Amino acid sequence: MPPTISQAIILRHVDYGEADRIVTVLTPDHGRLKGFARGARKSRKRFGPALEPFAEVRLHWAPRPGGELVSLREAELVSLRIGLRRDLETLALAGYGCELIEALYDEAVGFAEAFGLLRAFLDHLDRDGASREAKLLLELRLLALAGIVPHLQHCAECHGTLPDGPVGFAADRGGSLCLGCGGEAAALKVDRLTLGSLGRLLQTPAERFADIHLSPRTLQEGSALLDDALRGHLQRPLKSAAFLAGLGDGG
Ligand SMILES: [Zn+2]
Repeated sequence: MPPTISQAIILRHVDYGEADRIVTVLTPDHGRLKGFARGARKSRKRFGPALEPFAEVRLHWAPRPGGELVSLREAELVSLRIGLRRDLETLALAGYGCELIEALYDEAVGFAEAFGLLRAFLDHLDRDGASREAKLLLELRLLALAGIVPHLQHCAECHGTLPDGPVGFAADRGGSLCLGCGGEAAALKVDRLTLGSLGRLLQTPAERFADIHLSPRTLQEGSALLDDALRGHLQRPLKSAAFLAGLGDGG
C-alpha cells in the first residue's frame, strides 16, 4: 500500500530500543498521530534531522495492522525552525505550546484549525522570539477552538451586565460573575477593560501573532484568567508550564 503523505509538526519523540524512535506529530488531515520510525537514529537518509521537536515535515506514513502506532516511512524537512533555539525562554514557550495543544487535543475539534494555530505560533516564535502576548494569544485561541472559552463580557450565570472596574471571575462557575451572582466573593478579580480586550482578541485572525501588543495589566490579569480557565481542562499541570514559570521568576 502506498504511504499517505501529510504535512506534520513534530510534537515530541522518545527513543526506543537501539535505533528506533516513537514520534508524536500533529497533522491537519489526520489529527494527532503517533508513529514508529524504525532505524530513525541510524538512517539519516530517510529521516535526517526531520524528527526533531517543532520541525515541520512532509511525512510519509502508513497504518500498521492492529497497532495504535502508525509506521513512519520517511520525513522530508520543510522547516526546522532553528530560530526557536535562540534562547531558553523561546524554546520553553515552543515546548509549552506543543504540550498544551496535545493536552487539550481531546477537547479540540478541527484538526486543520489546531494545526494552523500551532504552526502560526511556532513560526512567530521562530521569527520574533518569546513574548507574553504570544503565550496569551495561543491559550485564548486554543480555548476558543475547543469551544471552552469562559464567559467574559457578561455574567456567566445570569447573563447580566458586569460592573465597571474589577469583576469577579471563577472558571469553575463559567467565567465572569456580576455582583448579584456573588462576583465580589470570587478569588480572582479582573478589570472589565481586560475582559473587553480579551473579547476583542478573540475577533482577530487566529493565525496572527505579530504586532499585537497588550498593556501590562491586560497581560497580568489575562494570564491569571487563562490559567484559571485552563486548569479545569488539564488532567495534570504541564511540565513545560512549570519550567516556563521558573524562567520568568529567575528574571
Ligand atoms: Zn449574574
